[in-house]
Amino acid sequence: MAARILDGAAVAAAIRGELKPRIAKLQERFGRTPGLGIVLAGHDPASEIYVRNKLRTAGEAGIRTELIRVSEEADLSHVLAAVTALNCRDDIDGVLVQSPLPGAMGADAETRVIDTIDPAKDVDGFTPANVGLLVQNRPGLVACTPSGVMELLEREGIAIAGARAVVIGRSDIVGKPMALLLLHRHATVTICHSRTRDLPAVARSADILVAAIGKPAFVTPDFVKPGAVVIDVGINPVSDGARVRSWFPPDSPRLAAFAKHGSITVGDAHPGVAAVAGAMTPVPGGVGPLTIAMLLANTVRAAEARLRT
Ligand code: NAD
Repeated sequence: MAARILDGAAVAAAIRGELKPRIAKLQERFGRTPGLGIVLAGHDPASEIYVRNKLRTAGEAGIRTELIRVSEEADLSHVLAAVTALNCRDDIDGVLVQSPLPGAMGADAETRVIDTIDPAKDVDGFTPANVGLLVQNRPGLVACTPSGVMELLEREGIAIAGARAVVIGRSDIVGKPMALLLLHRHATVTICHSRTRDLPAVARSADILVAAIGKPAFVTPDFVKPGAVVIDVGINPVSDGARVRSWFPPDSPRLAAFAKHGSITVGDAHPGVAAVAGAMTPVPGGVGPLTIAMLLANTVRAAEARLRT
């Protein structure tokens, strides 16, 4: 039987809808809506698209946005200065710096940026202060992608307490916070990574399997226990026609989309997983929209917290 599709786009729309009265209340009580400042360094094409989506979605929700561009050739001090200026602004509640930074800014550029963001405005949830709060299960700003996944699981009525959860990927932005959030909801959590032995067998123990790897169609049906919930975080653009044709049946609309555009975006889960899983998120339309919805939720939350003080 085909897996139930977990409609991330619909849940994201519900989350955004719930923010509207909170934003209106801030406007009514404090005379302003939440403000989000985004710093974009360089011209990475994927970053341009992500930032455009964030600005548009925030604007539609009634959040004020400001984009600060830093040139590809500028050194890191320009990014840090932009962050510091946003930190100091009273009308800005959320600050994020789009990744990746230009390589010439140095190997430790991302860390230095994170260390500069005011934790009260850290709407990506990346600062050590917010990560520490997450580890201790205390209120703070939590990374958007994993908190979006939790919203989806909860709103779709998926049992988490007592479930076996396997997270493939141990990044600071997805894998690690994902594992902590599942743990705090009383799942029994295993984190897997590039050096995990017999990964398919470990993955097959999961009632909830989260794939955050960045490798197209990596999670094949033999990774999945029949009936498991599969959350596909991967966003992988693919332009190799032979690979795309090997994943989808000849009548798949994804092949038609590929023929039209010359590339498509696929997740980390192989399409064949849908025949084994009990429920799964699609790519696109699964975790991606939730990430942006949670960015807006974090911005509203940061504004509420800052204006209360
Ligand atoms: P990352 O490169 O920082 O981490 C990838 C992780 O996968 C690493 O921890 C690594 O150990 C693991 N890995 C790599 N090869 C592996 C293998 N062969 N076997 C097992 N584990 C392996 O990536 P990330 O930033 O965590 O992102 C992961 C994916 O999620 C990417 O496709 C990214 O584009 C996507 N992403 C999506 C959203 C969204 O909103 N949907 C948000 C963030 C990231």
